[in-house]
Amino acid sequence: MSQTSFKTDWVWHNWKFLPWDDAHQHHVTHSGHYGGWVFEWIRVYPTQAGAKIFRLNLHIERLLYSAKVAGMRVPYSQSEIEQACIDLVEKNKIQAGYMRPFISFWAWSMWLHPDAETMPLDVRVSFWKRWKYLSEDSIRVCIPSTRRIHPSTSDMNAKLCGHYANSIQVSLEVHKRWFDEGLLLDTDWYIAEWPGENICFIQWNTLITPSTGTILPGITRKTIMQIAKEEMNINIAERKILPEEITQFDEAFFVWTAAEVTPIASITLENDEVVRFTTGEEQSTTNRISSLYQRMVHGEIPQYVNWLF
Ligand code: PMP
Repeated sequence: MSQTSFKTDWVWHNWKFLPWDDAHQHHVTHSGHYGGWVFEWIRVYPTQAGAKIFRLNLHIERLLYSAKVAGMRVPYSQSEIEQACIDLVEKNKIQAGYMRPFISFWAWSMWLHPDAETMPLDVRVSFWKRWKYLSEDSIRVCIPSTRRIHPSTSDMNAKLCGHYANSIQVSLEVHKRWFDEGLLLDTDWYIAEWPGENICFIQWNTLITPSTGTILPGITRKTIMQIAKEEMNINIAERKILPEEITQFDEAFFVWTAAEVTPIASITLENDEVVRFTTGEEQSTTNRISSLYQRMVHGEIPQYVNWLF
């Protein structure tokens, strides 16, 4: 997809709107060189009450947590950044899309240590028209040999750009093997997540998902666990999962902001055994969760409209 097809007119930059094409940053910045940017990926949905930003408060809360982990002292409050996101949607007059707030040290520093006293921060929000990251259909997944970053090496609850160096290595490996995506194991051989999404499995009436520690605890994962429990009476099990258990599961899907619920057709294990899952059936649990999620993000379920901003 070409850049012009997804760009919007305006970006938000340190309390000002800038035309999209004027949003440049110098290449000699601390965050650019060392991966210290922090960011979020947020969805904007059309609803009967106009464009709404899904769970904006949770995203900005996580953004500020990530900034703290990266040693940043952000000059704006959570509600100010939330307002910037709302203003940007209104300014661009677009009903649906992806919003990406990010914070970086823009100082021309080559020192590794980010000095919060002296290093100025850039706070930006950009908004893209809708595009789809993964295919709408179910996807083929393998278990790559690259492992998820160990939580003793970085705070996995933070969304730091640097963590995506690991994700890039995985996607290179996975695409070389002609799979759509890779399911990462942690260094203790338990299932973690994929390079940019969380994973859920269904076994009978239970949704099983890896516990926190080696994953980014996703806002979609949290949302799906809540609605599956409250609206569908599904049991939730957050626990360590071994790859050998995959053969016992009935369904599998990825969850994340950008692609919402993506059904998995098959997972190829490390011994090349291919485990196939139920997909495409209207009454499958994955499909029922996915349609519930769609109705909720489009403001069609009254008890969840307060998740839309
Ligand atoms: N794990 C990783 C590594 C991610 O990058 C993301 C989001 N991009 C997720 C999980 C899912 O998080 P969320 O549901 O908050 O988008």
